[in-house]
Amino acid sequence: MKLNNEKINKVLELLRAVQQEVNDTIKQEQEACQHSNIAECPYQESTYYSNGQPPIRVCLDCGLAEGGWSFKVLFEKSVPLSPRGISRELLFKLKQGDMV
Ligand SMILES: [Zn+2]
Repeated sequence: MKLNNEKINKVLELLRAVQQEVNDTIKQEQEACQHSNIAECPYQESTYYSNGQPPIRVCLDCGLAEGGWSFKVLFEKSVPLSPRGISRELLFKLKQGDMV
């Protein structure tokens, strides 16, 4: 369902088209990337208020991120593998697309 305002509808449609192009480009670049620059934020210990969280890694070249105790996609292509430490806050700013 659309609004009755054509100007707003037009810019919203442009925005959707640009967002689709951004998503497609990120996906293509992540598939082609060698993931040779990886950063990792360490696990978060459980506290009284929250459960512990496993480490999260992000490729600094393409923004592909994965979470878990062991490497998955990023390990397959990473040579050499030398993740450097990064804060969880910065990692989520660099992350692009869905987490693997
Ligand atoms: Zn990458």
